[in-house]
Amino acid sequence: KKNIYSFAEGARQGKELLGGKGANLAKMTSLQLPVPQGFTITTACCMAYLEDETFFTTQLKNDILKAVNELENMTGQSFTQPHDLLLVSVRSGAAFSMPGMMDTILNLGLNDERVKLFAQSTTIAFAYDCYRRLIQMFGDVVYSIPKEVFNQALEKNEQRLNKPTRDWSETEHQTLIKTYQTIYEDHHVDFPQDPVEQLFAAIQAVFKSWLNPRAHVYRELHQIPDSLGTAVNIQAMVFGNKGMQSGTGVIFTRNPATGKKELFGEFLINAQGEDVVAGIRTPLPIHELNAILPDAYEAINYYAEKLEQHYQDMQDIEFTIEQGSLYILQTRHGKRTAKAAVQIVLDFVNEGMISKEEAVLRISPATIEQLLHPVFEPETLKEATVLAEGLPASPGAATGTIVFTAEKAKELHKQGINVILVRQETSPEDIEGMIVSQAIVTSRGGMTSHAAVVARGMGTCCVAGCEELNVNEELKQITCDTIKLTEGDRLSVDGSSGRLYIGELPTVFEENNQALQQLLSWADSFAHLKVRANAETPEELNVAINFGATGIGLARTEHMFFGEERLLEMRRLILSDSDDDLTQTLDTLLRFQQNDFYQMLKTIQDKPMVIRLLDPPLHEFLPHNPNDIINLAKQLNHRPEQLTKKINQLQETNPMLGHRGCRLGITEPLIYQMQVTAIFNSVIELAKEGVIIQPEIMIPLISDKEELLEIKRFLSETIQQVFDSHNIPPIPYQLGTMIELPRACLIADTLAEDADFFSFGTNDLTQMTYGFSRDDIGKFINSYQEKKIMTIDPFQTLDQEGVGQLIKIAVTKARQTKPNLVIGVCGEVGGDPASIKFFHQLGISYVSCSAYRVPTARLAAGQAAL
Ligand code: ADP
Ligand code: MG
Repeated sequence: KKNIYSFAEGARQGKELLGGKGANLAKMTSLQLPVPQGFTITTACCMAYLEDETFFTTQLKNDILKAVNELENMTGQSFTQPHDLLLVSVRSGAAFSMPGMMDTILNLGLNDERVKLFAQSTTIAFAYDCYRRLIQMFGDVVYSIPKEVFNQALEKNEQRLNKPTRDWSETEHQTLIKTYQTIYEDHHVDFPQDPVEQLFAAIQAVFKSWLNPRAHVYRELHQIPDSLGTAVNIQAMVFGNKGMQSGTGVIFTRNPATGKKELFGEFLINAQGEDVVAGIRTPLPIHELNAILPDAYEAINYYAEKLEQHYQDMQDIEFTIEQGSLYILQTRHGKRTAKAAVQIVLDFVNEGMISKEEAVLRISPATIEQLLHPVFEPETLKEATVLAEGLPASPGAATGTIVFTAEKAKELHKQGINVILVRQETSPEDIEGMIVSQAIVTSRGGMTSHAAVVARGMGTCCVAGCEELNVNEELKQITCDTIKLTEGDRLSVDGSSGRLYIGELPTVFEENNQALQQLLSWADSFAHLKVRANAETPEELNVAINFGATGIGLARTEHMFFGEERLLEMRRLILSDSDDDLTQTLDTLLRFQQNDFYQMLKTIQDKPMVIRLLDPPLHEFLPHNPNDIINLAKQLNHRPEQLTKKINQLQETNPMLGHRGCRLGITEPLIYQMQVTAIFNSVIELAKEGVIIQPEIMIPLISDKEELLEIKRFLSETIQQVFDSHNIPPIPYQLGTMIELPRACLIADTLAEDADFFSFGTNDLTQMTYGFSRDDIGKFINSYQEKKIMTIDPFQTLDQEGVGQLIKIAVTKARQTKPNLVIGVCGEVGGDPASIKFFHQLGISYVSCSAYRVPTARLAAGQAAL
């Protein structure tokens, strides 16, 4: 097996073997882009080494020496001889990009002697800048010596000498280098003077960085397997820190926040490597490079276009300019906000780069969820006090308690408190704190700083580079002009405008944006499965329709019995002991419900809406504590003892399996009759207004054909009476059943004979199939998940092996009876992309989910069909 590929020969190898960085460096080399030469040690070597460290000496060492030798030949420079110094970088690079999670060392090959030679052919300030960086990075990566220790030593010397490093003499530089080396001694290690030794140590440290905790956390978050390993790239150095004609930067070929087609990015003059992303100096926007180094700027534009065309996707490109010449050091698919992701695929379709199908497939359902991020309520926003304004690095609106460290963020998050992490700048060590934060705020750094990139990747709201803020992490306070905020104070962060507000502002959801509408309409055109919503109040119905629901798959009628006034009537009904009482109460409830149905039907007009008749057991409507019972007795003119007795009668040992659903319909037909009367009265009223509606009425918890027949019998009688009383010919309607009991699945063929439609109630079907109630699952589900007995939550994602098989049997049997039977799924899993794929394969007619999940479900339905 080949351990090493030079950039010139790796173009045909995949990123699994060479890592994303290595594969793209090889690809760019073959496309003849200006890439400094180098070679890649494979990810397989990393895993072999992590398994058994002797692999390095026995299998790898000689191959590395050979590759270095080739690199010397290609560049005409030397890694060990005292002339034409070859310096290299050692760069980690896994198959999936993990920004800043693993390690990179620059300027390898310098030592106390070679730096003098280097200074002779360049300048003292430059040569020692490189050497200083090498010793610092090497100490950090290989020996875990904190970077700050070196920075402090540097600052101290600058103060002592009272001049910037560029004015130091060689001896003054050498004094600092000595200090750096004593820092190594304090840690009982040495900085190796032999370049080859440096290289070997650096490579092994990069291999090991695959296992560092922050990389591990990142992989867990993004579900990247631990078994992949990182490749290591050894590359000839080019120098962005070689004076005012040099620099380094990062660009995106499209705006990663909005998706707009424009070159977007930042650069720093006279800087090296990590300076831009580390957020130490705030970089300049890329278009300003045009005035400083126009040729380099033009070249960047040219290669940006070329790379985007080649990869057919938005690229995130790292470049360095050495004395006017441009070098490309990295390209990868750029991380972007959900909004940008949608805009970009839309533009790609318009530019003829990709097909509509491809566009739909490229957007993940999770992206859509992010797009439905809240925004601050516009009216309150006008009144709110702006604390400061920074860069809108990642959209969203978040409120929470200010914290200054990742640890504190984790601690408060555990207590269920929403936190906003505020820092001068974030570093990869902060990753766990960033994950639990509602928003991230930094006072330094640009749009491509660590905080910005990571936040966009996670879909977390972020404002970066808010320079008006004076963040003091030690005192745990922010000052901004005369305002001072400390840990525990509340802050509101608007990641779309970059503004920070004092206190907590209310949030609302934004209206659907147009780009999303376009993409989802394409998804709809591919989908076989329709998406409806579960909704019943006029507000929810409107949200559902705005999100593109084709109808309502489940309108529960329970809420019509709640609210103080209605509840009292319902209680009167349940407890009534005279016929007069009963008729009167039913009449009152009828008027309430009729008005509700009228509003609901009017809101959704001619879109289909499945109305489910009352489902929960009656005792859910009754009070249980003694005081409430006494009060109710007073209101209804009952004796408390009598009431308590009645309540006890209705008590059930196992309500989930008890007197509910159609069982209630059969023992108390008056309630169902009242409900359908209300429905048809409203339908007739709307018909008079010219709105023609064909209602769909659904009966819950059917387990037997005779139940269905009995309920159908008395409901159709009632409905006919309604038509007669209005003296009009019948309006067509449908009577369907929920399928939410295993028995119903097994006899679906016979139920289909008498049902106009089916709808799977997956919540009940899941609890009935497993035999555990959703309300009690909390007692054991955690240990089940810890012990990996159950890895998915079957109420979130359909259990395809069990519940899914029952659904499959039911669909097959039902369609034997009625090939065109409309079969829906209502319940939590109706909005889950993985479950939607399964429902698509079964030929389900529609899924119905909560209104906010409709856009996600539409995309998933489109993808399932492609
Ligand atoms: P990361 O994966 O964290 O982005 P990189 O391997 O890309 O780490 O290295 C970080 C930075 O170091 C790069 O952005 C680049 O600017 C700089 N760098 C790496 N290799 C070289 C090189 N051969 N010459 C000049 N700069 C380099
Ligand atoms: Mg990089």
